[in-house]
Amino acid sequence: MTKELSKNKMIGLFGGTFDPIHYGHLRTVLEVQQAHQLEVVHFMPLNIAVHRQQPSTANTLRWKMLTESIQNIRPFIADDRELKKDQPSYTVETLQSLKADIKQKTIVLIMGSDAFNQFETWKDPHKILELAHIVVMRRPDHVVKIADFCKHQESINKAELKHQSAGLIYIQTVRALDISSTDIRQLIANQQKADFLLPPCCLDIIKKNNLYQKNIKNQ
Ligand code: ATP
Repeated sequence: MTKELSKNKMIGLFGGTFDPIHYGHLRTVLEVQQAHQLEVVHFMPLNIAVHRQQPSTANTLRWKMLTESIQNIRPFIADDRELKKDQPSYTVETLQSLKADIKQKTIVLIMGSDAFNQFETWKDPHKILELAHIVVMRRPDHVVKIADFCKHQESINKAELKHQSAGLIYIQTVRALDISSTDIRQLIANQQKADFLLPPCCLDIIKKNNLYQKNIKNQ
């Protein structure tokens, strides 16, 4: 972890492959952080993917792109607990580990609607909702589907998240930024510029390390 854990009551957790991190992640998570007054948000790159293709970029480089991109953004923390674990990155286990560190504080698990639409298939989704609230960021052109088993846990009043320690699902409309890591990898593979879609320091790391050069879909 690159900064100290906070003492505030609600903290955010945002996991992803971050291959690479981009403004679609950063701006939307900032909006969630501000809306819920989260003292910090832990950005957590996964090591071994469970629900998607494994990122091809080395962990060290994904970590470098992340840490350099958020180093001056006060409420954002880079958290390497999944990267350090040589096991599949299961959110339920990550939440248990984070909870042990932050004790009585409330965790808000932040995710995009594409990730949330598969929530039912995750390991121990009931347990996840015992450990945290979920804020779903409605992405451009995405429909949010809430699985039957947790429909009754949807809250339309964000203030409720402060009064309950876990178990609520809040759908938050965030600024539509139609940016994805896949698009960025494809642009670079096609020798096109990816400027203004991601932080310049992150683009510098991509250039210096010749990342995403091969024209392979989902590289
Ligand atoms: P890829 O294109 O490789 O699938 P990605 O851009 O979706 O990557 P991830 O690191 O896989 O990025 O995603 C981490 C989280 O960020 C997911 O919950 C995803 O839904 C969310 N996310 C990604 N891009 C956006 C965006 N433009 N707006 C809102 N949420 C986003």
